Parts: sequence; C-alpha cells; structure tokens
Amino acid sequence: TSTAPVSEGGEAAEVLHRVFGYDAFRGSQQEVVDHVIGGGDALVLMPTGGGKSLCYQIPALVRPGVGVVVSPLIALMQDQVDALRALGVRAGFLNSSQSLDERRLVEAEFLAGELDLLYLAPERLRVEATVRLLQRGKISLFAIDEAHCVAQWGHDFRPDYLALSALREYWPEVPRIALTATATAATHAEISSRLGLEGARHFVASFDRPNIQYRIAPKDEPRKQLLQLLRTEHPGEAGIVYCLSRASVDKIAAYLVDHGVEALPYHAGLDQRVRAENQSRFLREDGLVMVATIAFGMGIDKPDVRFVAHLDLPKSVEGYYQETGRAGRDGLPSTAWLAYGFQDVVQQRKMIETSEGDQAHRRRLAAHVDAMLALCETVECRRVQLLAYFGQKSDPCGNCDTCLTPPQSWDGTVAAQKFLSTVVRLQRERGQKFGATQITDILMGRKTAKVIQFDHDALSVFGVGADLTEAEWRSVARQLLAQRLIAVEGEYGTLVLTEDSGEVLGGRREVALRRDPEKAVRAAKAAKA
Ligand code: ADP
Ligand code: ZN
Repeated sequence: TSTAPVSEGGEAAEVLHRVFGYDAFRGSQQEVVDHVIGGGDALVLMPTGGGKSLCYQIPALVRPGVGVVVSPLIALMQDQVDALRALGVRAGFLNSSQSLDERRLVEAEFLAGELDLLYLAPERLRVEATVRLLQRGKISLFAIDEAHCVAQWGHDFRPDYLALSALREYWPEVPRIALTATATAATHAEISSRLGLEGARHFVASFDRPNIQYRIAPKDEPRKQLLQLLRTEHPGEAGIVYCLSRASVDKIAAYLVDHGVEALPYHAGLDQRVRAENQSRFLREDGLVMVATIAFGMGIDKPDVRFVAHLDLPKSVEGYYQETGRAGRDGLPSTAWLAYGFQDVVQQRKMIETSEGDQAHRRRLAAHVDAMLALCETVECRRVQLLAYFGQKSDPCGNCDTCLTPPQSWDGTVAAQKFLSTVVRLQRERGQKFGATQITDILMGRKTAKVIQFDHDALSVFGVGADLTEAEWRSVARQLLAQRLIAVEGEYGTLVLTEDSGEVLGGRREVALRRDPEKAVRAAKAAKA
C-alpha cells in the first residue's frame, strides 16, 4: 500500500494549505510527513511548540485508513478533537471519561471508515476488545505521542506505554511514528528499543528555543522576587508559575491575587471542574497567570505564554526544559526564570530518600537532580549546558543570565574549610548537629539568642567567616550541598559531613564556587558604603 513519497509531496502540501491553512512546513515537518506517507517508521524529537502534531495528522489524512493516535493527555482529547473537527477533520477519541454510548458511536464511525484520526488513551490498548476493534478497521498509521512516557529511565514513565510494544507484532505493515519533546540520548535509545523502532528513521530537530531567556537566581524571598519579575517585565501578560506542592500552589496564587495579579491555581487536588475551568480560562483569556504543579501543561498549546517561573527546583533537566518550553511558542521574547536555594536541595534529596522503588531507581532520581543542580551552578552559558544535555553543541547564546551578567567563579576552598570545620567542631567538641543558619551565624560571629543559648560564641571558629556576607555564606552552603561536600540529615535539615568532606578539610581538594552576580554587585556596594 505504500506510495513513493515524491508523488505525495504535492498532496501533503495541499492538505497543509487547505485543511490547516498554513503556507509552508516548518523545520523537518516536510521530511517527516513524506517519510511516513511513504510507509516508513519514524522517531521524531522536536521541542515543545515545534509542530509535532502535523507530522502525523497530515500523513493520516493522506494515507487511506484511520490514523490512530496514542496519547496520555486524556483531559485534552476533547479539545484536540474539537479543534480538528472545526477544521473539517473527522476525528474522535476513546478513553475512560466517556459513557458507553459515546464509545459505541466512535467505534461504529471507526469501523465504517468515517474517521481520519482516532485518539486513544494508552490503557485502552491493554483491553483485548480494543485490539480486536482495531483489527477490524483499516489503520493508516499509529502515532505515539509523548513517547518518552515509555522510558523507565526518564522522568515521566507511564506503565501503560509498555503495552505499545505489541503494535509492531499486531500490525507489522502499519507505519508507526513516535514523537516527543524530551529526550536525552539515554531516553531516546530506550524509546527505540521499547517500541521496537530500531529500524525507524530518526528526525532530531534543534532543541534550541532562541527566544526564551533562561535565568536562574538564588532564592531570596522568592514571592517578592516573583512579584518583581511580573511587575517589571511581564505586567498583564500570561505566564505559568510552577511550584512543587499543592499547598504552595494555593499560597502563591492567593499571594499574587492579593497583590493585584490575576492568578489561578491548578493542581491535582482541586475539583475536576475547577481544574477544567481554570485551564480553559487560561487558554482563552488574555494575561492570566497560572500557578500550578507540574500536573499542568503537557499538551497545552497557548502561543503567547510570556514567562514560565519555577519557585522550586525541578526534579530533572528534562522536566525543566519541557516546562520552560511552554513559554514563547509564538517565537516572541519570553522568560524562563527559576529561583532556587539550599532548602530546595534538602527537599529534593529527602524526597528521593523516602521514595518508593529500589536502590537503582533512587540513584537515577539523584542523578537527575544533580544534573539540574549543575545547570543551576554553572558559570557557563545556560543554553550551551541545556543543549549539551540533549546532545547538541552550540555557542554561548547572549540571551541567558550567565551570558548577560557573567558570574565569576572563585576559589572557595578556604570558605569551604571554615564551613566544614564548624560542622566538625560542633559534632566533635559538643556532640551537636545544626543546620546551615546556625553555622552561618557562628561563622559570621553573630551573637544571636540561639548562639548564646548554646554557648557557640566560645567556639574557636566563632567569627572566622566575618569576611563574607550572609548571602555569600548561603551560597557557599548551597553549593557545598550541591557538590555533595556536605549532606543533610533528618527532618530539621541538620548538616553532616560526607565521604568527600575530608579531602577538603585536609587540603587535598580545591573547591570552585560560583559567585551569584546580583549578590556580587550588592556586596560590592555595601562594602563601599
Ligand atoms: P508540539 O506538539 O510540537 O508542541 P504543535 O503541533 O502543538 O507543537 O504546534 C505548535 C503550534 O505551531 C501550533 O499552534 C500549530 O498550529 C503551529 N504550527 C505547527 N506547524 C505549523 C506550520 N507549518 N506553520 C504554521 N504554524 C504551525
Ligand atoms: Zn547564554
């Protein structure tokens, strides 16, 4: 049934104009479309907003039969199908949200060949009856959207996706196209092998999103920092603010509303109706700020999101890139801003420690967080680092914080030694463990109530760190933690040494630290005053 792609080139372009109303294909769309129309399998890696949908929608319209799209985005299927129908495309979906009658209707349309596209939730394919239904109709292609969900090593694993390996066995002659916006080399390889796509042609678009300005700032009253960002750079503009927990989503949304920002909350703990309502308001109205957990955003296509802010450290670079990628799909200048601090590292490491799964799984999670931390603490171009993470080489971009205000690295060996030896002394001489705040107060020689209560001003290290500011000590502590030169223990976040601390204390290892640029400026000003 496969036709030479050359003769179909015209038809694909015709569908692009007539059905979708676009003038030209973007990037590698044309190549992918031609390849799939010709009956080939494809693995497509394209950044969010790159235009993945057309890569399977057009072949589905050109090839005879129904294009079956597997997607985990159940909540969006109705919207996607409505949008296609508005263009005159015969689309339908099958998922658990439907009544039996609705499902029967779609099944009948499918069997009668009255559909161009059928969207399916992956768990449907675990049901015998669905497989039998599909076998009775004519299928033009299988599209596997958000294909990274099949990767156990990735950050978004869905067990139902594993069943998709059967597609090749049941329908060896039907082309399959897997698509994702998030794939490191490892995830990429895993998608290939789990879906049996080793023979597929791989299309890897550039992951660069040049219109997004990446910025990562040390946390210092994050709510005020956020408000400042919104007021000075994005007043009245649409954006997404990501928080780790539902509780902080509610708090931040209320805070923004109190301060005159039109903000809505979104997390899995909210009533289904409220969630749907907030999502559709965000999509349809102008200038709303969505405060959300990462439950929000996958598949959301709003072109004019001007900023994505993270108030907590994302769990992986892949997740961070996918979330920030929701900004600026229209190609206009947009901001990706992240604030992170000591407590974020503590929280992430604690979550990993208490997470379910075996040792290997925890090591994997820890490696994801470490890569994220390396991105935060880099003195090099953020974009160069990000793209390198996805296996792509690039030059410094001129549009990220480290390019715009280059941070310096400084020799933090002595500072690290002072910090670590304070931890050691407390433990050896007093049998005590404390958190970063108390260590900082001791180093800076502050006679706080707690310092006096524990007689810490009598320690020989008391005041030996008066040469650095509090912000600088906070940065030292954060980076020591990120570099695993200290560790936190227990629920109070008390500090303990690690296997590597001894090398620093013994002078056998140097510690390079990043100087936070804004802080450096402020500290210099304070010194002059
Ligand atoms: P992805 O799934 O890769 O995130 P989409 O398929 O949702 O991206 O496309 C992102 C946006 O770009 C959509 O609004 C889509 O209509 C638009 N788009 C895609 N391809 C083209 C094209 N060739 N010309 C113009 N707009 C396009
Ligand atoms: Zn840069």
